[in-house]
Amino acid sequence: MDISVIIPLLNEEESLPELHDWIVRVMQQHKYSYEIVFVDDGSKDKSWSVIEGLSQKNPNVKAIKFRRNYGKSPALHVGFEAAEGNVIITMDADLQDSPDEIPELYNMITQGGFDLVSGWKQKRYDNAFTKNLPSKLYNWTNRKISGIKLHDMNCGLKAYKKEVVKSIEIYGEMHRFIPVLAKNAGFDNITEKTVQHQARKYGTSKFGWDRFINGFLDLLTITFLSKFGKRPMHLFGTMGTFMFIVGFFMTIYLGVEKLYCVYNHERAPLVASNPLFFIALTTMVLGTLLFLTGFVGELILRNSSVRNHYLLEKKVNL
Ligand code: UDP
Ligand code: MG
Repeated sequence: MDISVIIPLLNEEESLPELHDWIVRVMQQHKYSYEIVFVDDGSKDKSWSVIEGLSQKNPNVKAIKFRRNYGKSPALHVGFEAAEGNVIITMDADLQDSPDEIPELYNMITQGGFDLVSGWKQKRYDNAFTKNLPSKLYNWTNRKISGIKLHDMNCGLKAYKKEVVKSIEIYGEMHRFIPVLAKNAGFDNITEKTVQHQARKYGTSKFGWDRFINGFLDLLTITFLSKFGKRPMHLFGTMGTFMFIVGFFMTIYLGVEKLYCVYNHERAPLVASNPLFFIALTTMVLGTLLFLTGFVGELILRNSSVRNHYLLEKKVNL
């Protein structure tokens, strides 16, 4: 099979028939063998019966429904598991992404040799203040921290080599960082393609302001996990040791100063009246805590089933 189109959706009953017909039109024009995998993320409207109707008309329509709303990442996860095509395309259900982009995305993966092509909504039709501006800032931060030069990391329209989606695991709200996950897994041939974007025709956006805060925290988590996930002590041990030593030398200094005064019969100030005393104390306590965090991290890692989980690319004579 050439293409799997994966569509996570939550309460998008009005858009689905139009989206389905449009995708089918593109697929037939280009004679692709395809499947459309709808993942209903616990919709409360008629989305599921619409999908059932579509699946009766078209045997290439496959669908999964969650019992309740879990989120876009879990929806994509089960879609990725089910996908059988050589190229996987993900797409939002709200008609903001255009199925007309599919052929070119497909060619970029199959002929261009890319592992992942991310859409870039260069001209965007969303609210300027709640979406577009924060999104620019957010993507800038993202580029700086992750080192992946994408303008629009969170675009719902993306294309993947099959191997990529079968190798990475998204959960929580990590769908915003699939390129980072792919890169950490060793798929670094990542690029972007400008795509058409439209204003939402039906329904309302399912994400609000908090996406930026959550997204930023997730980015820190991913960066931390990819660098120190398998060696937490190296981070916490270094910071802990450093802080402890700084605190320790402050304490030595305080002690020496006191002894010096006593020895020379000068009036020695109380050690606790010096702010340095409290700084030294806090630094040493925090240093110790960081160090212990490192040990706890190592203990957890030792019991983790993925501690020796590696992605193999090739083998010979094995
Ligand atoms: N979505 C989902 N589960 C959720 C939230 C959203 O499956 O909990 C789907 C939604 O139906 C849409 C896509 O994710 O197909 C993108 O959501 P939306 O259009 O609301 O995001 P925006 O375009 O406003 O960023
Ligand atoms: Mg949308």
